[in-house]
Amino acid sequence: MLSESERFRYQRQLIVTDWDQEKLKCSTVLVAGTGGLGGVIAQYLAAAGVGTLRLLDDDSVDLSNLNRQILFRTDDIGKPKSILACERLAALNPEIKIEALVERLTEGSASRIAAGCDVIVDGFDNQPGRFLLNSIASRMHIPYIYGAVDEWHGQASFFYPPATPCLACLVRETTPTTRKIPVFGAVPGVIGSLEAAMTIRYLMTGETPLAGQLLIFQSDTMSFDVLCFEKNPTCQVCGAKARAK
Ligand SMILES: [Zn+2]
Repeated sequence: MLSESERFRYQRQLIVTDWDQEKLKCSTVLVAGTGGLGGVIAQYLAAAGVGTLRLLDDDSVDLSNLNRQILFRTDDIGKPKSILACERLAALNPEIKIEALVERLTEGSASRIAAGCDVIVDGFDNQPGRFLLNSIASRMHIPYIYGAVDEWHGQASFFYPPATPCLACLVRETTPTTRKIPVFGAVPGVIGSLEAAMTIRYLMTGETPLAGQLLIFQSDTMSFDVLCFEKNPTCQVCGAKARAK
């Protein structure tokens, strides 16, 4: 049941067609990373009233983050991101539960970190982190909402094998790089908003149009394109052999 203050807070979304606030309230979402993507994702999920948000980030705020990580301010430099994010979002919406995890996602910590989550949302900024999220989500059978940005473009998708392909079906894992990814704030703003919208839609309806599809946003030409891709039957993560392990 929604309280009177929740009904007042959410009044503009409660009148959205097919909106189901109770489902959002009962949901738990892991937001992996609270930077450029994760900060935007977490703000929209908190504002919309997702019942429990688990914010994972082992990093602290750096001056060079602030061109895109809009949850943080100059006087936050040196402070842990997930704790700050937790404080900011609790001030935004005290009706929800927010958990801050100041730790790194590893094979060993994954099952504890993702336990009980209805969705894992990708706010990471590196490929090894995303591949780890992908394999954890596949193994624990949790939907994985993917987003990534690089220079003028960003992309998003939805992975939930065996019903859909996974990240490893789409791209080959490359060796970790120390390359600084060029990024300006509006692109993770767009992609993070898309991930938040996909998460909310999925939690309420169980649907997402981006299963088996990669959405690509190009900010230089202001275009959105959607590419379809297939499941790889020999995928190391979600192929029949991997699942039989
Ligand atoms: Zn796969």
